[in-house]
Amino acid sequence: MNAQRIRASLKKLLAIFIVICLLLGGVAQYLFRSVSDLYLVSVQGRLEERALQYKKSFLFKMNSDLQMLRAMACMLEDAEQNATLDDTGRLMSNLWDASITAGFGCLRYFDVQGAGKQLRSGEAVTTIQLDQQVVELQTVVQQALQGEPASSSAFYDAYLGYNVVGYAAPVYSNGQISGVLACSVSTETYAEILTCVSSISDIGAVAVLSADGEVFASTRTHQSQGFYDLNGSDYLNEELCGRFMQALAAEEPQFFEFTRNHVSLYACVMPMGINTDKIIIVDTDKGVSDAVSDVVRYAHLIAILFAGTSILFALAVLWLNRRYSMQLLQVAYHDRLTGAYNRYKFFQLLDQRRKKNTAYTVAAINIRKFKYINELFSSDRSDQLLKDICAALQRCMEPGEFFCRDTADTFAICLNTADRERAKERLNAILEQLKDSGQNMHPTYPVTFYGGCATPDDCVDKNSNEELMSHVMLALSYAKQSQQATVTFYDSKAHDRETLNNYIENRMEWALEHGEFQMYFQPKMDLQNHTISGAEALVRWIVDGKQTIFPDQFIPLFERNGFCIKLDFYMVEEACKQIRAWMDDGRSPIPISVNQTKLLLYEDDYVERLCAITRKYDVPNRYITLEILEGLALENPEKVAVCIDQLHSHGFSISMDDFGNGYASLTTLSQLQIDELKLDRSFLLQADQNTEHNRRKILEVVIEVAKRLHISIVAEGIETEAHEQLMREMHCNYGQGYFYSRPILADEFTAKFLQNDAQ
Ligand code: C2E
Ligand code: MG
Ligand code: MG
Repeated sequence: MNAQRIRASLKKLLAIFIVICLLLGGVAQYLFRSVSDLYLVSVQGRLEERALQYKKSFLFKMNSDLQMLRAMACMLEDAEQNATLDDTGRLMSNLWDASITAGFGCLRYFDVQGAGKQLRSGEAVTTIQLDQQVVELQTVVQQALQGEPASSSAFYDAYLGYNVVGYAAPVYSNGQISGVLACSVSTETYAEILTCVSSISDIGAVAVLSADGEVFASTRTHQSQGFYDLNGSDYLNEELCGRFMQALAAEEPQFFEFTRNHVSLYACVMPMGINTDKIIIVDTDKGVSDAVSDVVRYAHLIAILFAGTSILFALAVLWLNRRYSMQLLQVAYHDRLTGAYNRYKFFQLLDQRRKKNTAYTVAAINIRKFKYINELFSSDRSDQLLKDICAALQRCMEPGEFFCRDTADTFAICLNTADRERAKERLNAILEQLKDSGQNMHPTYPVTFYGGCATPDDCVDKNSNEELMSHVMLALSYAKQSQQATVTFYDSKAHDRETLNNYIENRMEWALEHGEFQMYFQPKMDLQNHTISGAEALVRWIVDGKQTIFPDQFIPLFERNGFCIKLDFYMVEEACKQIRAWMDDGRSPIPISVNQTKLLLYEDDYVERLCAITRKYDVPNRYITLEILEGLALENPEKVAVCIDQLHSHGFSISMDDFGNGYASLTTLSQLQIDELKLDRSFLLQADQNTEHNRRKILEVVIEVAKRLHISIVAEGIETEAHEQLMREMHCNYGQGYFYSRPILADEFTAKFLQNDAQ
């Protein structure tokens, strides 16, 4: 997984975490709300219950006041049948003592015409008129005149000089209403009842208000002061005032919450059931409400703290992770020694580059003889050289270009062009700049570089970084081998060759064991009498019985990897087998020439092994001719001469193959005791063309010298009768070539060229 993906998933996790926190917060909020609502319901129930208690106490007092008044009205009725208003005034004075006991502030009597008397403590009875009284009093009196004892809302009694509640009861005379007895009771009396009940029930402010907000009576506690003054209280804003007025106007009990001095309060407004008065009760029992709201507030706070801490924790994890992944990225994408990108990162950048659809070339550069530099100078200085190269490469990079340290002293670079010439120029320019880095290490030791390049167009899979890189590395290996070119490009043919070589190397052992290497024969003809004088054994590799691979494609590789030794012994054995078969078949065997790699001559037991093979098949050694290449004689003439002597002593014949192809001289011929000289096919071609007169002369001399040294001469590559004629004229002994036969399998060869002596 790359860093961006890790970061993205962490962010996703964090987002999910935050959402979960928010959800939890929401659930907590919901629960707190539910608790609050439950609490509100319980508060509401409690307040309504209390309001009912107040109402009952209040109504009980009012009722008892009214009953008292009615009783007094009855006393008037019983005592004063047909009495005048003045008589009534006198009777009132008599009743006054009872009024004081009942707590009445004053007594009033009105006859049906509205003429009346009034009396209060310490004063004489005075005359009054109903229509001059306050509306509230007039209303209750009118109600009583209708036969209904009545009570009023609170009103200011000017006669008494304080707020009162008015009561009125009809006075009967002979069964007819003859007047109304009214009394005023101070609202303070009711306030006392409220205060008294409130102190018992330990509840906050209670009041009785008229529908328009006039305070009838209220508890005399500290909290209640100014509480119900809807016109001027500090906490009653317009909105709250409106809610109070709405509640006062409603017919049903009302409950609502509000805040005063940052304390949540709950109000219950309940109709009194008389007039339009309402009892209002406000729970200022802030102990309970505050406890709940505190719990809610603390729970909120804890939830917020929890969410905040969790988010901080998650952020810290994210930060740590980011830091850690930065370190991981540094390790994952960078080379430890130089700090440059590594191949993995380089491939990622290549992928991004490919998406941009702009042409590019990938080049790999290498330091020539870096191993030697490592040996010669200390590894510290070599490391420094690599660092200097990285720094220099960094300076060389143009926008869009990038590089990495691939392995050891190999650096890969992405260049901004796919054009070979421009890429070569650019890379050469870079290599030129890198030279200075070498001078830093050692002023006199020249550090040189070589590079290989390839483009995506060279690849079968244009999206494969691996394929591109392997092409680049192949190109680099050409540059390494080449002494002239500093920068080389990938060559698909070379790649195919490499692929075939790999295939060959992987299969050669198996192929030898399973008989895939087959021996073909090509006749060697006597030019004078047209008879067969021998055959050359030529190897063919038949892959899976189908495809034929020719020796030119694998012998050079086998010579490099040493497998040729095994193969040549195998071919000698196959040749012996064939000679034995001919002999057993009653045919006169012919000598078989077997090509021998130069490596064999360096094998200590070469001659012994050859003898062992011929001995195994009981084949006389003279039937085996060993063809060695002329170049071998030049490499180590003494060793070759010794080996040839040994082979001669065991009866083998020696043929020098491909003479004229290399640099072997006539002197070589004289130094080595060879029996046969095979003129390279190129000799014949040049002589045939007749263009190079000198070449022909040389050939004549070579033949002449060979003859003198008693070396028989074979002309290779006789393809036409003219070739044969030419070689015969030049006194060549033998000829070999397609003119006589292509290399063919043993059975065909036997049938074609070897008679059965028994027949
Ligand atoms: P060589 O030993 O010089 O073999 C002669 C090559 O010339 C053979 O190619 C043969 O097929 C070819 N040739 C013969 N006549 C004509 C002709 O008229 N015209 C043309 N154009 N070519 C002709 P081949 O079989 O492909 O072998 C190539 C080389 O591989 C041989 O050259 C030899 O050096 C090497 N070689 C073949 N078999 C063996 C082997 O068993 N061991 C070793 N060490 N080398 C082998
Ligand atoms: Mg040969
Ligand atoms: Mg040859």
